[in-house]
Amino acid sequence: MSSDCIFCKIINGEIPSSKILETSNVYAFMDISPLSVGHCLFVPKKHSITAHTTDDDTLSEILILMKKVAIAAGFETYNILQNNGEIAHQAVLHTHFHLIPKNSNDDGLIIDWRPKEVQDIETIRDKILNNLVL
Ligand SMILES: [Zn+2]
Repeated sequence: MSSDCIFCKIINGEIPSSKILETSNVYAFMDISPLSVGHCLFVPKKHSITAHTTDDDTLSEILILMKKVAIAAGFETYNILQNNGEIAHQAVLHTHFHLIPKNSNDDGLIIDWRPKEVQDIETIRDKILNNLVL
């Protein structure tokens, strides 16, 4: 736990939340600033800042729980969003996944997708292949 982390405070009950579920590893609750009705958050109970510093079991469990909540809520169209780092729009520095229903072009997640001309994709591919641990 990080003492100044808002999500750790929510998990510990110091800040109230509209809880959906809680397991030994994961806490899920309704987002207080939703992009659409049903927008909710899934967080590891053990404080971490990014997905790549979160343990594998918790990451796996979160995705399965998101699927179950999407089914329970009847979401047919939705986005799963997970941001790492402030420049990548991570507002709370505790790993979290957004489940965001999309009901129209005007609600939910709005994506400004701008593909770039990239000259060299082999250098990063080689780096991945040289360092990848499976
Ligand atoms: Zn935290």
